[in-house]
Amino acid sequence: MTTIIQTLAEWRSIRSNLGNAPIGLVPTMGNLHAGHGSLLKRSMTENQNTVLSIFTNPTQFDEVTDFQQYPKTLEADIQLAQSLGVNWVLTPTEAELYPDNYRYRVMETEQSQTLCGKVRSGHFMGVLTVVLKLLQWVKPQRAYFGEKDFQQLQLIRGMAEAFFLETEIVACATVRDSNGLALSSRNQRLSPAQYQLALAFPSLLATVFTDQEIVIKLTELGFEVDYIKTQEGRRFGAVRVGGVRLIDNF
Ligand code: AMP
Repeated sequence: MTTIIQTLAEWRSIRSNLGNAPIGLVPTMGNLHAGHGSLLKRSMTENQNTVLSIFTNPTQFDEVTDFQQYPKTLEADIQLAQSLGVNWVLTPTEAELYPDNYRYRVMETEQSQTLCGKVRSGHFMGVLTVVLKLLQWVKPQRAYFGEKDFQQLQLIRGMAEAFFLETEIVACATVRDSNGLALSSRNQRLSPAQYQLALAFPSLLATVFTDQEIVIKLTELGFEVDYIKTQEGRRFGAVRVGGVRLIDNF
């Protein structure tokens, strides 16, 4: 049975009855797809209890329109959670999660300034803050994050180490559609023609061309390129197709 929880008080009373039975947390912003589904399934195989959180966190959006357009599909999300047998779905309100009215923030000063952080000012501060809050709420033994957002995953791992958090941060492989495009809630905003164009992004990112060659090819095709950068054996990229921002890494 899947139970919906909105307040910290409700969760605390449930949590206190769970004893030491392992809890896995899967934080999301909703509009769930098979990528989120793979995190939930992994958590369910590794923990007796799985908590899915759904909260579209305003502070990690650097563009108001992106936040406003972020798809909200709570009923379908809850149905997916139920069909997978997820135990709890947390849908906290802003007031419940930010009793400080956004006064306190978690800041990382190096890695958060590169790649996506360079283009999206304040984004990772928003991510780290909300993830720390969720980890402190739920107090899970494990928390699951996708490699699709690799920079985010690394920063969350780093935060967990820096602040001696007891939750294990588990990385999950990127789930792609049958054409190789990484699943993302933003893909829905692509028109059929934009979708066809978007497929060139993962295929070029995975080639042996240099970063600069890929930038040139993507630009020629009509992408707006935020960055293509290889570091520590991994190539990262972010592009825009129409107004839709896509990220990926190989
Ligand atoms: P989001 O709702 O976009 O914030 O994503 C919630 C979690 O799902 C994050 O840890 C993401 O990295 C992960 N995720 C999103 N898309 C994918 C995907 N295509 N494959 C694997 N994990 C994903």
